[in-house]
Amino acid sequence: APRKLAAGNWKMNGTLASLAEIDQLLSDHLAPGCDVLICPPATLVHALAARTQGKIAVGGQDCHAKTSGAHTGDIAAAQLQDAGASHAILGHSERRTDHAETDEQVRGKAVAAHEAGLVAVICVGETEAQRDAGQTLDVISAQLAGSVPDCATAANTVIAYEPVWAIGTGRTPTNDQIAEVHALMRDRLSARFDDGADIALLYGGSVKPGNAAEIFAIPHVNGALVGGASLKAQDFGPIIAAL
Ligand code: 13P
Repeated sequence: APRKLAAGNWKMNGTLASLAEIDQLLSDHLAPGCDVLICPPATLVHALAARTQGKIAVGGQDCHAKTSGAHTGDIAAAQLQDAGASHAILGHSERRTDHAETDEQVRGKAVAAHEAGLVAVICVGETEAQRDAGQTLDVISAQLAGSVPDCATAANTVIAYEPVWAIGTGRTPTNDQIAEVHALMRDRLSARFDDGADIALLYGGSVKPGNAAEIFAIPHVNGALVGGASLKAQDFGPIIAAL
């Protein structure tokens, strides 16, 4: 069975002072029984890894497909690994929108992450217009086919389903809508990969302490990718506990 994972994506939030939240998380809330991952801005990866000493996994929010070179502002997977990261979020909808990342580029980044020994947390999700047009399952299938590389295994890859319209909006899909997409993802991954049944599938988009338990009870939901509610220990702690 897939390992359970509670993952926090801090996005472009946080400074060194924010690491106090992690101290509180470690002292008050950390339950055994699931893995916990925090993906802070790149500026905080090293400090966070030093602070948590492996009790919480640390990840980047993106990486470049190449190993080094003239790419101002970009970060290589091996540099994240060197700074103490074990994971990298790739293909988040905000990267796909703000930086026009394509499935092919996301796949290249995932290969680079794997080569550097990082777990790739690959994000997929439909827009509201795509859902309204009845295209959700086709969009998710295409993103999985295009963004997940052939070298993916249950050990080096996690998939996050994040409907774009549910991110930061306080709106979530119905349980049936989440169940339908997660079942599709499980089918597709199991058909393509030997250990596809063991690849962890996260739901993301307005996960809060108040809806976490209900979402975690949905079949093939193995955890969450949490944005806003991962910034405060008092919110993220109960989400971890619900898992
Ligand atoms: P929110 O939890 O703030 O909706 O963000 C979800 C997300 O995008 C996590 O990657």
